[in-house]
Amino acid sequence: MDKYTVLKQYFGHGSFRPGQEELIDAVLSGRDVLGVMPTGGGKSVCYQVPAMLLPGVTLVVSPLISLMKDQVAALRQAGVPAAYVNGSLTAEQQRLVWARARAGQYKLLYVAPERMETSSFAALLRDVEVPFVAVDEAHCISQWGQDFRPSYLRVAGCIAALPRRPVVAAFTATATAEVRQDIVRLLRLQDPLCRVTGFDRPNLFFDVQRPRNKREALLALLRERADKSGIVYCATRSGVEKVCAYLGAEGIPATRYHAGLDEEERRANQDDFRFDRKTVMVATNAFGMGIDKSNVSFVIHYNMPKSLEAYYQEAGRAGRDGSPADCILLYSQNDIRTARMLLSEGNDAMTSEQQAAVHQQDLARLEAMIGYCRTRGCLRGYILDYFGQPHEERCAACGNCCAGYREEDITVPAQMILSCAVRVRKLLGYDLGKGKLIQVLRGSGRQQMLDLQLDRLSTYGLLKGMSAVQAGELIDYLLQEEYLAADPAHGGLYCGPRAAGVLFQGEKVTMPLRADRESVAAAGQARRSKGGSPLPEGAPDEVQARYQALKEVRIRLARQENVPLYVIFSNATLADMAVKAPRTIDELLEVSGVGLVKAERYGRDFLQAIAHSSL
Ligand code: ADP
Ligand code: MG
Ligand code: ZN
Repeated sequence: MDKYTVLKQYFGHGSFRPGQEELIDAVLSGRDVLGVMPTGGGKSVCYQVPAMLLPGVTLVVSPLISLMKDQVAALRQAGVPAAYVNGSLTAEQQRLVWARARAGQYKLLYVAPERMETSSFAALLRDVEVPFVAVDEAHCISQWGQDFRPSYLRVAGCIAALPRRPVVAAFTATATAEVRQDIVRLLRLQDPLCRVTGFDRPNLFFDVQRPRNKREALLALLRERADKSGIVYCATRSGVEKVCAYLGAEGIPATRYHAGLDEEERRANQDDFRFDRKTVMVATNAFGMGIDKSNVSFVIHYNMPKSLEAYYQEAGRAGRDGSPADCILLYSQNDIRTARMLLSEGNDAMTSEQQAAVHQQDLARLEAMIGYCRTRGCLRGYILDYFGQPHEERCAACGNCCAGYREEDITVPAQMILSCAVRVRKLLGYDLGKGKLIQVLRGSGRQQMLDLQLDRLSTYGLLKGMSAVQAGELIDYLLQEEYLAADPAHGGLYCGPRAAGVLFQGEKVTMPLRADRESVAAAGQARRSKGGSPLPEGAPDEVQARYQALKEVRIRLARQENVPLYVIFSNATLADMAVKAPRTIDELLEVSGVGLVKAERYGRDFLQAIAHSSL
């Protein structure tokens, strides 16, 4: 068998994605590799295909139990003999895995790094041939990375203890050079072929929005996507609790996930989401590394994450099957403060120098993330620049490319707001919060204003013609651009570092206004009505009907086998099947995503539904 046959027969793909083939060829020729691809880019194939072609068993080092479980389940569905060893197995189950591994029954064995050091595992490795070790999520080895796992540091030692040195491959989605260098050094890769590929995800639509009211904006976004499955990421556990409760009260089928929940609830909620019993998952970043769910059609960030890497990894969980999907970040000024608070403090094993260096890195990452929220340029281009991949200047599929900005001169109202803040402080000896400051500026006439003699200020009522909401937007912008600053404790507003230029040096202030909010909404709407299903635009009714029928077959089979829907076939595969309407198993194999084993196992059910639907 060659690699193309393996790819088609077991994984159902007709061709390799850019980068995959090169990495696979290198491994097969005996060379170590480092593959850098984004989440959803297709790293698994890079070690699963060689595993099928090499003798013996391939070890896959993987950090998370849920990740292993899903991958192994998917492999078995595809007819690949695979198993996993981690702390979740009983002694009896583990013995069974050992026995089968010794009998040569597996091509792939997934293992948690801690398990590699156990004596029973070491004994096993003396008895079986291991030509190839793949280290997935390899950035976990680096203390510069976001997910440092000390147990990864011992992987190289375990590999060195093998009777014969296997080919070693490492995979990650990390951008920074330091982390990549750590991977090569700490895993002791030998002259590895390094490839950075596939960071562009053309099916993802990116947008950054700054709603006045995040909850309402979120609710509106979810209502527009009522029948879709998606993830809402919040920065904190309490954020998850509040947002999830709010959505529940509004009738959205949402569940939640964060590290503060007990394991049983986490598992139950995750399963509700995996099996589409609940369509919306509200979660902290604790949710996800293990989620290969392919039909996630949107990822909404309720808060700005602390790095673009984290953002792209989380957002990248949308549209894994290639269907159109939306990645929307709801940004507000407060997110910066929260993100700063959440920056890691390093770990105890580090010297203070190392901790300082880590902190510097974290700040630089955060800066890049803030830049993404503020840029008026192409959002996709911004991301690709960060990861070091060339791109077109404008992608035409992000909020900024679709909207365009116009600069509005706000110098005069900005001067009014800033000098009002100055005068308030002079008069009262303290600063007012946003709401009160707006009352002064709009000359609200309330008793409290008069009691404090604020009505005597020359700036009282200067923004009479403006709505409180408009004034609030201006203030938010001035805060964001550091013309204003806010006391973190009680929100009192005072002049920020850039105020002096405006007040005393005649500097102009402009505020970018997204020119055509409606047109972005319309573009999104158009995309959704065509992209709501992965069917091609204007697909005839009979294709639509067939697609629905195929989905029902999938539900039935998934129940029968007790696996998530996407383990049977992805939405994209069902859509291609609906379009091609195969009549025979051979024709079915032409459908993208249909491999030999699945065709044999499920083919009849789907072919029947197709035959039935075209009566
Ligand atoms: P990663 O581990 O890099 O996050 P995965 O290996 O889980 O990504 O792959 C993501 C998705 O891409 C899966 O649904 C997989 O079936 C699909 N995929 C991978 N390689 C190909 C290919 N050559 N052609 C089509 N789809 C592919
Ligand atoms: Mg992966
Ligand atoms: Zn763009």
